[in-house]
Amino acid sequence: MSAEAVPYTHLGDALATDYFRVREQFTPEQWKHFLTTRRFVDEEVLPVINDYWEKAELPWPLMRRLADLGLYGEDIEGYGSPGMSPLARGLVTMELHRGDGSLGTFLGVQSGLAMKSIAMHGSEEQKERWLPAMARLDAIGAFALTEPAHGSDSVALETTARRDGDGWILDGTKRWIGNGSIADVVVVWARDVEDGKVKGFLVETAQDGYTGVTLGGKGASRAIWQAQITLSGARGEWLPGTRSFKDAGRVLVTTRATCAWGALGHAVAAYDAALTYAKQRVQFGKPLAAFQIVQDRLVKMLAEVTGMQLYCMQLARLEEEGRMTDTIAGLAKLNNTRKARAVIAEARDLLGGNGVLLENHVIRHMGDIEVIHTYEGTETMQALIVGRDITGFGAFAG
Ligand SMILES: Cc1cc2nc3c(=O)[nH]c(=O)nc-3n(C[C@H](O)[C@H](O)[C@H](O)COP(=O)(O)OP(=O)(O)OC[C@H]3O[C@@H](n4cnc5c(N)ncnc54)[C@H](O)[C@@H]3O)c2cc1C
Repeated sequence: MSAEAVPYTHLGDALATDYFRVREQFTPEQWKHFLTTRRFVDEEVLPVINDYWEKAELPWPLMRRLADLGLYGEDIEGYGSPGMSPLARGLVTMELHRGDGSLGTFLGVQSGLAMKSIAMHGSEEQKERWLPAMARLDAIGAFALTEPAHGSDSVALETTARRDGDGWILDGTKRWIGNGSIADVVVVWARDVEDGKVKGFLVETAQDGYTGVTLGGKGASRAIWQAQITLSGARGEWLPGTRSFKDAGRVLVTTRATCAWGALGHAVAAYDAALTYAKQRVQFGKPLAAFQIVQDRLVKMLAEVTGMQLYCMQLARLEEEGRMTDTIAGLAKLNNTRKARAVIAEARDLLGGNGVLLENHVIRHMGDIEVIHTYEGTETMQALIVGRDITGFGAFAG
């Protein structure tokens, strides 16, 4: 078959998928951030991202552009951050993931996890030192909670922190740490040997006690790097707002909500590609989109995407009113990652063999949704946390 016989074009392009007209509720601030990110994704991310993904290279020029666009720091007030509303923050996350999950995750680690931990729990001096530099991407951050032996049960983490004069000494191993091999500063969650409580510490990577080794061979989110970190007598500074494991959880509430938005972005990308493709691809003398079964499948995908959009809109409203809880964010993450996986799998199938080619984007989203499904609490863990809330029975600990 000649190349001209396969004129499937614009598969990465955004359609205006908003069947229930949720965009009519955006304020000018929200429109601004939404359109800035959308334009960046369409004009700068999609033309180049598959190559970075395939080679497992970091898209440095795109990561730097996020700083030019003023997106790092998201909803943090002051310290060089844009102070976005929860809805604007969600829209930025959605659009970045519509382009690429690795880039969306990079923003999530830099802003949502590392900067947010410092903004929420740091001293004034720590905030002044790190946040403006991180907003400009002059400094890169990471968030180290997971350990080789403790993922879902990170509450049982074994990394230790021992007071030493004015500072602290940390020992232990962390795994799966986004940016762990390129960061300047890492928010490390460790157990204070004195009181046995989990607390957060700022660990600078330019010291002998810190090693971060990139994990290779991933089949998902290949354009962001995670690392195994070894702390051997590493020096750290305590984040004074952290007194127990719950303080790590406070950071993760908002990032769980952004996971729901990220999953929506992946699903919209896949739905848009499937609709565009089905109108172009002719089989049995007609475009695929003209067959009843194909229409039924596309409409069911749209129904799922629309439901995800409504979940996200309500999440943002609740957060604005200060009423979003960890279980609300957990239910949204669970729902949206589960639905996104199904929508993307449908899209992949509707593109037939072309669905596995990176140039058509869907297969990249199919890989990348897997990591959102797993990180910041797997689907099952979200179900168990919400299950405990609605039944009163905790069903997951020992
Ligand atoms: C790409 C990527 C990026 C990441 N980035 C970071 C990061 O920046 N910082 C960080 O700290 N961590 C990060 N993580 C780690 C992530 O948060 C963990 O992978 C996640 O919490 C799950 O832990 P685990 O992989 O150890 O799986 P496990 O906890 O071993 O779970 C394996 C399976 O068992 C299920 N399971 C576990 N417990 C129960 C139970 N009680 N009942 C029923 N089922 C159960 C889980 O749902 C899952 O299906 C990242 C992970 C990935 C893949």
